Order: sequence, then structure tokens, then C-alpha cells
Amino acid sequence: MEENSNEVDIRNVSEITPLVNDTRREFRNAIGEAVYVSYISSNSFIFILFTLCSAKLITCVTIFHYAKTDTDTPLNAFIIGNLIIDALFMLILGLKYLSNEFDCSMTVKKNLLIVHSIVGLGYFIWLVIGNYWFYTCDGCFDDAPLLTWLAFSLIFLGYMYFCMPVFLCIGMCICFPITLVVLLLLKVKVQKHASESLINKLKSQNFSPENHIGETACTICSYEFVEGDSIIVLPCDSRHFFHETCCKQWLRIKSACPYCRKQITEDNIN
Ligand SMILES: [Zn+2]
Ligand SMILES: [Zn+2]
Repeated sequence: MEENSNEVDIRNVSEITPLVNDTRREFRNAIGEAVYVSYISSNSFIFILFTLCSAKLITCVTIFHYAKTDTDTPLNAFIIGNLIIDALFMLILGLKYLSNEFDCSMTVKKNLLIVHSIVGLGYFIWLVIGNYWFYTCDGCFDDAPLLTWLAFSLIFLGYMYFCMPVFLCIGMCICFPITLVVLLLLKVKVQKHASESLINKLKSQNFSPENHIGETACTICSYEFVEGDSIIVLPCDSRHFFHETCCKQWLRIKSACPYCRKQITEDNIN
């Protein structure tokens, strides 16, 4: 007997395991796709980033062209490196835009994301080196003020770029409780139930197909109306009627018509 039950168990497990694996795989794929799509898909966001990057690149190249480059530490090398990274970043953005426009495969988009991450890592390392050169440079502001200010601006932008997730997290931490409170307040307002005195003011009637034109079934319980059923016609519309018990139960939860959502108040009953 025991062997039999074991066999059954094993068969069940072997039947269930592929299903579980399939579900896990689907779930993983769905999450992965959602992350990649949300990261890459917004073409308007890519366009804005591209425009900002172009503006930054053109400004930096112009300033760099007119700046003196004679400093203790190679700040000019830092700026050139920064501009090259910017150009690479713009190239990736352009490719991302095109991959969305021409609906490229997920593999292409994933590869772009990997390249983007590598460039981001390179940018971070270069920023650390630039920081070191900037803070160990003696008299840079006197020797080459324009170049030093440019290096300072690029370092500041780098801080902004890498601190953006932190700012977003702080923003979300502040916004989330506020949103939650607002939603709770709205929900309280929407789910305001009717008072017993208001419910008692609604007079019941007996259903008859000749007098009650509209739905043939009660929207709350889905049961067909039968001649003689005790119903309540709400004041919003003569076609909005429900079983008396259904309607009263509904109004004890929510003081609005189940059909048209119009609030049921003392004023519109009288
Ligand atoms: Zn009903
Ligand atoms: Zn109604």
C-alpha cells in the first residue's frame, strides 16, 4: 500500500515540477522584460537625454578650445576623457533610440544595456581620478581658471549623475507617505456609507415588469427580478432599482448608486 502511495506522490511531483519551473521561468522572463523595456523603451526620455548631452558636449568643447591648459595635474586629460565618455554615451543613446524605432530583438537591447553599464563604470572610475587631480592641483584656478572651472563643473555634474538614484529614493520616501495619506483620505470619502436613517427613508416597492422598465436582473446579486420582489428604486434614476435587501446592504458599505455612482443623500431622497 505504502509503495503505491509513494508512486503516486512521485508521479504528482514529476507532473508539478515542470509546471512550477515553467511558471518561474515565465515570471523571471516577465520581470526581466519589464525591467529592460521600462529602461530602454521611453524614446522621448532618450531624446531629452540626447539633447542635454549634446548641449553639454558642445559647451564643453567650446570652453575647452578657448581655455589655457597649463596646470599641475592633467585636468585637460580629465576633460578630454570626460568628453569621449559623453560622446560614447550619446552613441549608445542614439543606438537605443534606433533599436526602439526599428523594434530590434531583446538580445540587442540587452547588449546595449550591458555596454551602457560598462561605459557608466568607466565614467565612475574616470570621475574618481578627476576628483583626485582636481583636489591635488595647486594654483589651478590662477594658472588656468577657465579649464579648472570646467573640470569643477564636470565633477559636479558627475556627482549629480551618480547621486540621482539617491535623490529619487529620498523623493520617493517623502512622496510615498503623502500619496498614501491622500489616497486613504480619498478612499474614506468614496467609501462613506449611508446612515440607517437615510436607508430607512428609501421606500420599497413590489417589482412588476410593466412599471419597472430597465434591467431585468439585480446588478448587486445578479439574480433575475421576479414579479412581486421587494425592490428599492434609487433617486438618481427610475431605471436604477435593486432588491431591497441587496440595496440596503450595499448602502451600508457605500452611499452611492451601484449603477451610476451618484451619491445618495438626504437631499436627493426628499
Ligand atoms: Zn439583488
Ligand atoms: Zn443610479
